[in-house]
Amino acid sequence: MELEIKNLYVNVKNKEILKNFNLLIKPGEVHAIMGPNGTGKSTLSNVIMGNNNYTIVKGDILVDKKSILKLETYERARMGIFLCYQNPLSIDGITNSEFIRTALNENRDKPVGLYEFIKNMENGIDDLSMNHDMMHRNLNSGFSGGERKKNEVLQIKMLKPKLIIFDELDSGLDVDSLKIVCRNINDYLKDNPDTSVILITHYTRILNYIKPDYVHMMKDGTIILSGDYKLALKIEKNGYDKTDLLGSDSYDE
Ligand code: ADP
Ligand code: MG
Repeated sequence: MELEIKNLYVNVKNKEILKNFNLLIKPGEVHAIMGPNGTGKSTLSNVIMGNNNYTIVKGDILVDKKSILKLETYERARMGIFLCYQNPLSIDGITNSEFIRTALNENRDKPVGLYEFIKNMENGIDDLSMNHDMMHRNLNSGFSGGERKKNEVLQIKMLKPKLIIFDELDSGLDVDSLKIVCRNINDYLKDNPDTSVILITHYTRILNYIKPDYVHMMKDGTIILSGDYKLALKIEKNGYDKTDLLGSDSYDE
């Protein structure tokens, strides 16, 4: 899926958070967006998903060349846009399996067969080294941070989105879980090569496991530098100060 963000300005409660934000992601590309806390990374993911708390002042968001600004969140989700939350919420009153099966059936003419569904879900749970009992527990209820993140990736494996935004995927994951989660994501991307990815992070660690095609550095609500994986290495070494990054062996913008 192609995503193009054009000259986007976004306010939250009359405060300007994103400004002059531009990004083009072609089908199958992985773009890492890095930046310090409070730069607007989560704002960006919320805006792509259509969260009404954010006001779009100017600009456009196009998916496969069509503006999605007028679409509700559920319509964007049905198109195949998936936000893997920085902090996934828990919801009582609906079990994990009911949640995923309902979402799956919303996008199908014929409901998925129960046997096929359970088999697929069990396979996904095994791939992610999760406990089988989580199928019947309420959505994320009592789950640790890491289990919640795994549960998001399980949803990806089941729902098969075409544009995935990972907001701080590594937060809440220990190193072993991070490896398992990233292996599952890489397998998914190999099986679904047109899937586009935004990988939001402020640590370079995760980029050791999921290799980005492009790395963008965000500051004060806009992208100030773009490059390839080498930019991430420079950020790791020098921090987010652009002047340090430009440094002696200057970097192509
Ligand atoms: P990041 O994810 O890069 O750490 P955020 O997008 O979460 O940054 O936040 C960017 C700025 O917008 C912060 O100053 C934050 O306080 C503010 N902000 C984000 N969402 C809201 C909200 N719903 N209400 C008020 N301020 C918000
Ligand atoms: Mg954030």
